[in-house]
Amino acid sequence: MANPKIEWSDALSHLLALATRLEGEGQYNIAKLARAAADALSRQAAFKIVMPTAKDKLINEIEQAVITLSALGMDENLLAALKRGAVALGEGRLPLINETPNAFVCRTCGFITLNEAAGKCPICGAWATTFKQFLPVYWLNALEPFAALERLRQTPLDVATLLEGLIEETLSQAAEDGGWAIRNIIAHLRDAEGVLSFRLNLLLEQENPYLESKAVFVWATREEACPPTTQEIFNVYKTSRQETITKLESIPLRDWWRTGQHEEFGTVTLRQQVSYFASHEITHLPQIELLRRQLHLDK
Ligand SMILES: [Zn+2]
Repeated sequence: MANPKIEWSDALSHLLALATRLEGEGQYNIAKLARAAADALSRQAAFKIVMPTAKDKLINEIEQAVITLSALGMDENLLAALKRGAVALGEGRLPLINETPNAFVCRTCGFITLNEAAGKCPICGAWATTFKQFLPVYWLNALEPFAALERLRQTPLDVATLLEGLIEETLSQAAEDGGWAIRNIIAHLRDAEGVLSFRLNLLLEQENPYLESKAVFVWATREEACPPTTQEIFNVYKTSRQETITKLESIPLRDWWRTGQHEEFGTVTLRQQVSYFASHEITHLPQIELLRRQLHLDK
């Protein structure tokens, strides 16, 4: 073990090469295990690295990544997009789709491009339609229509259980790290539901409407937009959700593929918007559970 770092990256490339070869033999079940192992190894290594939360330090990390990637011969367009992202971060805003387009990677040779795949891979000749597309967040394609509807129905029930028996003082208590109180999380769920409801109307009433990017995250702590009790905030969320579900159940299935132009994410379907919001909500439930533990409400 003279240089474990090199051994690690060697193991990774060998695993992926093996997976590609196995796929060539039609051995997809063995190939999937090799790909899963490579993905797990990468994520396990990344999990041990502590990244800064401060904005300027994060910008520095992006700049360092650009230097490293440049030395490794990475595509210039991707590096330029990363730099534009760092500038936007510095300006305190989210970069838009025209500044940071989706990336496409050739599954065969690893050729990378920011242009919508067309024609053939200039390196290996693979058809561009087989490229892997990198979307901003997996939530966009996580849930099929029926699973998404079920999720939209279930989450308010799960939240209600987590809120049961809590008094306002407890609900308003900030997290140990100074972060959101349970009240802020509920306000955030209400706000996200509001954006979903608004966008569904646009997508159903207009052809390919423009969908503005919303900084929903910063609204959660705006008390002027909140009724006095958390239960009332929750009720607004629950009522709007019921209307959303009724609407989604009444539209023809093909309408789930109506599109809009999202300022931040580019072309999105109604199906992707519903999947996004239904998936996003689930990520906030462990946050409420953690707060309950911090407040000694659960063991
Ligand atoms: Zn290729």
